[in-house]
Amino acid sequence: MNSERNLNVLFSASEMAPYAKTGGLADVVSSLPKELINLGIDARVVIPKYGFIDDDKYKLIEMPDRLKFTMSGYNYEVKVKYHKSSDGLMTYFLEHDGLLSRNDIYGYEDDGYRFAFFNKASIELTRFLGFKPDIFHCHDWHVGLIPVYLKTIYRNDPFLKDTATIFTIHNLGYQGIFSKGLLPYIEISWEEFKAEKLEFWGNINFIKAGIAYSDIINTVSKEYSKEIQSPEQGQQLDNLLRSKANDLFGIINGIDYNEWNPSTDENIAVRYDLSSIYKKVENKIALQKEFGLPQNDQIPLLGFVSRLTYQKGPDLIAESAFEIISMGAQLVLLGTGDDYYRNIFQKLANDFPNNVKINASFNDSLARRIYAGSDMFLMPSRYEPCGLSQLISMRYGTIPIVRRTGGLADTVHEYDSASGNGTGFVFNDESPMDLISAVRRAIDVYYGNKSWQNIIANAMKSDFSWGNSAKEYADLYRRAIQKHEIG
Ligand code: ADP
Repeated sequence: MNSERNLNVLFSASEMAPYAKTGGLADVVSSLPKELINLGIDARVVIPKYGFIDDDKYKLIEMPDRLKFTMSGYNYEVKVKYHKSSDGLMTYFLEHDGLLSRNDIYGYEDDGYRFAFFNKASIELTRFLGFKPDIFHCHDWHVGLIPVYLKTIYRNDPFLKDTATIFTIHNLGYQGIFSKGLLPYIEISWEEFKAEKLEFWGNINFIKAGIAYSDIINTVSKEYSKEIQSPEQGQQLDNLLRSKANDLFGIINGIDYNEWNPSTDENIAVRYDLSSIYKKVENKIALQKEFGLPQNDQIPLLGFVSRLTYQKGPDLIAESAFEIISMGAQLVLLGTGDDYYRNIFQKLANDFPNNVKINASFNDSLARRIYAGSDMFLMPSRYEPCGLSQLISMRYGTIPIVRRTGGLADTVHEYDSASGNGTGFVFNDESPMDLISAVRRAIDVYYGNKSWQNIIANAMKSDFSWGNSAKEYADLYRRAIQKHEIG
């Protein structure tokens, strides 16, 4: 049995901060391996080298040899580039002009083939490097075929036959569904095209594949690991997930406390920590100024940084906006996604220029100024596997207002003014009414100045760094190896 000290773990994923990010997946893929390294695990990461990743900016180094392999009779050559960060994390970038070096991460007609290609290339990379992983740690549908390949075409490969797999579900709502016509091109036999394997209503389903073929599966909070086993939240995979219940775990995500730190963050107007919390208000004034809102430290300011999709409940915010404004609050929104929601917010911003502003871009630096400058942070998600934004908010002393679902339920606790306990405001129903009433509770406490300082202290003192969760992953790796050995 391997000890933690000599475990080799390779993460494969489609996103990693800061190189390629659309959401929390990217944060996890860059922060968890660093924590595993602190535990003595040799954790490394492989991602595609997208066209927008700048070699010079990130000081990427190209390996002299090319990674060569075949896929369904085609010969491929891939450039391998790498970067070792100051904290010792080795990241490999796979570059292929036709398939991987695109200007967007997702959204191409050939995404099925592109990611299947990346999956096979990730596996071939291990042999190329001579890095024999004890664990392949696969994240979300984009790498759902790695466990399939390891259990089929590489099953008896002397270099890879002992490699166990963990599949982490960051969001079951995105499954990677493609036509079965793809199968012959991606080296998967029709044998695997079965309902208990990767077939899904006549198509191939990549996330289903990841779940069905991995030794161990986990999600990013305990609550979500339970929710997805129900027909309501199982996205039509609840049957399969229930059948895997013994191998399905929930480990809450952490955030990198160095990366997200109001006392060192160079993007914000004034740096602060709990002992200098009185300075936080200067970030609020700066944010009001940046967005062209009336500058007044007494006005409660609510922030929202999110993908604009139905999952995140932007419509609930829009439908509550009038009431929220009537409470005298300001609303600052940052997000990309469905134009439908952007237009609704744009209209609100036009109608209420002193209260509502939206910036429809992806902007990490601005996101940080919103985390630092807001009093409260809205997350009315319909479902939320973990959610990082509420954790970041609490780190910045910004009080989350969340719906009781998934990781939000696990990490935010309703403030109780009698005991002085709690870190935020939590509501139950997917309804504007429930959201409004949570905002009202928050604003009431906000105006009772002393209690507000208390809740800020509770939020900033809560610990969502990776320490404990990384240890849970180390335990899960051992379990996966055992499971793999048994077969
Ligand atoms: P999800 O992964 O479902 O999008 P999370 O809360 O887990 O949601 O993580 C979202 C991450 O993406 C956070 O780091 C958040 O700050 C960031 N983010 C989301 N939208 C934007 C945006 N428009 N600009 C900058 N950062 C964003």
